[in-house]
Amino acid sequence: MLALQGDFREHIAVLRSLGADAVPVKRPEELSNVAGLVIPGGESSVIDKLSRISGLAEPLTAAIAGGLPVYGTCAGLIMLADTVLDSIVGQQTFGGFDIAVRRNAFGSQLDSFETDLDIPVLGDPLVHAVFIRAPIVEAVGAAVNVLATLEDGRIVAVEQSNLLGTSFHPEMTGETRFHEYFLRKVRSA
Ligand code: GLN
Repeated sequence: MLALQGDFREHIAVLRSLGADAVPVKRPEELSNVAGLVIPGGESSVIDKLSRISGLAEPLTAAIAGGLPVYGTCAGLIMLADTVLDSIVGQQTFGGFDIAVRRNAFGSQLDSFETDLDIPVLGDPLVHAVFIRAPIVEAVGAAVNVLATLEDGRIVAVEQSNLLGTSFHPEMTGETRFHEYFLRKVRSA
């Protein structure tokens, strides 16, 4: 669990409730102990800065390129994107996901909202999704599988091989199916 900034405690609680041995990762040497990583929601520009200051950015970027399973929610999804639109000056990401995301895509009129999503890979019931200053996936490469869209077609959940990303926050609503889905990727990696 990347624990530099954001709602990593909520993710750790969900992962542990599913029986996973979830530990916080703050330093480069802690990265070698994990078989997968979740990057929380929070503020992507801050996670970016802290990851560079801590020396985590470089080894983590290499680990993702090498196939480490990673699940990013909201800011975490932004950190996985190869391209970020509306980033702050100098903002970098770990990359790996062949997607373009737009930060704060819903603007100030619709800062935060909740909706129910039909996500076929998770089955019934619908996923209750909480969006908080959320990004939207605006473009996806050929290797990317779209898992969920809003009613207007905008993309809010994606996967690409060992990478999983959601614009919203399953860890805030008692929704465990995304974490279970991710843990299956970790086990089969
Ligand atoms: N807007 C934030 C960012 O750009 C993401 C918000 C969130 O993670 N809930 O990083």
